[in-house]
Amino acid sequence: MMTKTVLITGASSGFGKDAVRLFQKNGWNVIATMRTPEKETELGALDRVALVRLDVTDNHSIHQAVEEGISLFGGIDVVVNNAGYGSLGALEAAPAEVVRQQFDVNVFGVIEVIKAVLPHMRRNNSGVIINVSSMGGRVAFPFSTLYHATKYAVEGISESLQYELEPLGIKVKIVEPGGYKTDFAGRSMATFGTGDLLDYLPAYDAFAGQIDSWPMSDRVWEVAEGIFQAANDDSWQLRYPVGADAVQLLQARKEMDDQAIKNMISGLI
Ligand code: NAP
Repeated sequence: MMTKTVLITGASSGFGKDAVRLFQKNGWNVIATMRTPEKETELGALDRVALVRLDVTDNHSIHQAVEEGISLFGGIDVVVNNAGYGSLGALEAAPAEVVRQQFDVNVFGVIEVIKAVLPHMRRNNSGVIINVSSMGGRVAFPFSTLYHATKYAVEGISESLQYELEPLGIKVKIVEPGGYKTDFAGRSMATFGTGDLLDYLPAYDAFAGQIDSWPMSDRVWEVAEGIFQAANDDSWQLRYPVGADAVQLLQARKEMDDQAIKNMISGLI
């Protein structure tokens, strides 16, 4: 069997870095893309792993990374849109550039990466596009409007795109992680709070104050396993929730109406 090739965005840490290791260990070629490959000291030493610069907000870097990957390994079978981050604060207090950046990275970046690999996948009449969403792509918590908006968008893009691409032999898959202890809630979180809008402060403080005590799993590798499973699944299954919290919450979302879900989330926060 031919060695397969995967391109992964946001491979400098968290799920992306674990996914690089897992695909590589299983014999794949990996185009491990990140904003600052010069800082990466570990992945570059692995066989069949190419470190390539890709900033999802820089279209030129996306196209260069795709071209470089194809010329190094002869093709791209799977792309994993993993790069992304969260933001926290009251919508009314969100500066315009914070709103724009959240969508640039989590939504427009995903679209541009997909558009860059599709000509190649269409030529091959095959390929798998895996978009890392979140359990927050189908259920929303307060003070996270921007993040949820982007992940709901990723779900909508993926759900619609599957119809366009299935006749061309290309699969679309969504991986929906629950809460995991990566850099997500730390250095990657853009917190803008409530600015000078004191009306929001009591509710925001109460919410933000208990985030640290949320049960985030340290079984981070489970998400790479979910991504790997999606990449190797010959079926046209769209969604892959990962983690007990995600499975439970998304099942509840299916079974409950809006009011019941609202009551449940209100009880959690
Ligand atoms: P992480 O460790 O903070 O990783 C985020 C990655 O995204 C980093 O590699 C970061 O690169 C990269 N990134 C940020 N902006 C970028 C840009 N403009 N171009 C390219 N890369 C960029 O967090 P993670 O948990 O692994 O997050 C990965 C994905 O999982 C995200 O889409 C996140 O929304 C999603 N997710 C996370 C959780 C969770 O609880 N951890 C739950 C559900 C979904 P730098 O190193 O350059 O900053």
